[in-house]
Amino acid sequence: MVMDRTEEAVRQDSPDYMTEERLMIQSVARDFTMKEVLPVANELDPVQGDIPMALREKMGEMGYFGIRIPEEYGGMGLGVFEYCLITEELARGWMSVASIIARAGGLMNVQGWSEKKRLELTRKAARGEYLAAISLSEPEVGSDLAKVACRAVDDGDEWVITGNKYWCTFADGADYISVMCRVEGDARDGYKGLRNFIVEKPRGELPANCKGAPIPKIGYFGWKTWELAFDGCRIPKANIIGNDGAEGFKTTASGLEVARAQTAARAIGLARGALEDAIAYSQARVQFDRPIAEFQETRFKIARMAAEIEASRQFMYHVATRLDNRQRQDKEASMVKWFATEMAERVTSDALQIFGGAGYTKLHAVERYWRDARLTKIFEGTSEIQLRIISDRILGKPAHR
Ligand SMILES: Cc1cc2nc3c(=O)[nH]c(=O)nc-3n(C[C@H](O)[C@H](O)[C@H](O)COP(=O)(O)OP(=O)(O)OC[C@H]3O[C@@H](n4cnc5c(N)ncnc54)[C@H](O)[C@@H]3O)c2cc1C
Repeated sequence: MVMDRTEEAVRQDSPDYMTEERLMIQSVARDFTMKEVLPVANELDPVQGDIPMALREKMGEMGYFGIRIPEEYGGMGLGVFEYCLITEELARGWMSVASIIARAGGLMNVQGWSEKKRLELTRKAARGEYLAAISLSEPEVGSDLAKVACRAVDDGDEWVITGNKYWCTFADGADYISVMCRVEGDARDGYKGLRNFIVEKPRGELPANCKGAPIPKIGYFGWKTWELAFDGCRIPKANIIGNDGAEGFKTTASGLEVARAQTAARAIGLARGALEDAIAYSQARVQFDRPIAEFQETRFKIARMAAEIEASRQFMYHVATRLDNRQRQDKEASMVKWFATEMAERVTSDALQIFGGAGYTKLHAVERYWRDARLTKIFEGTSEIQLRIISDRILGKPAHR
């Protein structure tokens, strides 16, 4: 393996970022990924299988569901930086596994629950035993989330949820669904009147009074992504997250900054997987009596891929550090999300090219990295939405949109 990712090299590359502790965290996560995640991904992704419970349990033992959950609540008490570091490693094996670690936490914001219940469930979440599906998108509402139409109606001791949702990943496997609903006004009122609700349910099933079907997506296997129809789904009055109106939306939006940095980490991890596989293949594959790694076009491709990944990684370290310092990061989080995910599509496509015809088969993991990279430009806000956020910060919002 030519790629130089020894601990010493990392230390020299990133003197400001890589403490001994972080190097250790990175190296343990890398080992875990290569031994526990990659073989499962290679077996299950081609048959669209779900992430097995046994793997989820091992991830729970490693503490990966509780990276940012405070130690007193059963987590590791680490920051966004470590979260991104571990994410990159897991995504090198399987992006879906790097994604599922984002499904724990946030339960301390459920204002109606007792401190005891919040603590108990946060502790379970930190072990990976109480995980969320997130239901924001709707059939008619994607980028413009302020137009959410699904309704929650106040009915005595309960909320009653009715409306259609779309793209809800993990709706079946999760222990609860966090559903964004409108409690007052209509689409013209924008964020005002939007709240997030906890819909608890048995794992492996949809909630009562909610029907759904998996969407036939082209990648991101390991879990299913659902369209859902809530029809009078009743939940306790207490199951409401955070503050109301614009405040509630702001909570969602500030969570998106970390989510976008983590998406950059996912893109970097899978791009690195594609690069490492392409390097190995280029050294083994012989044409015209020599390894294809000896052709300048292959060498330069690999050089460009490695440089693009490293630039994205350093940018991610910078943004994660600022997020840990609680600095406002909406522009930078959008920049790194856009930069790293666009990079991942180019790099995984070049990796597939290095494999030639073999790349266009299910026989090598490079096709998985390529398919999953494509999604990173769409979810957590499309590339166009990131560019809109960045340009609005630079130029101010246009007078007429
Ligand atoms: C596999 C998968 C899993 C997902 N999982 C979840 C999930 O678990 N929970 C959840 O809530 N959602 C989920 N999503 C939804 C995802 O977040 C949305 O697909 C995404 O936000 C884009 O919304 P949309 O698909 O409706 O596209 P649209 O908003 O309809 O956009 C269509 C096109 O128009 C462009 N566009 C839109 N507005 C503008 C603008 N103002 N300026 C320039 N261009 C614009 C977009 O960039 C895009 O190219 C998932 C999606 C996929 C594909």
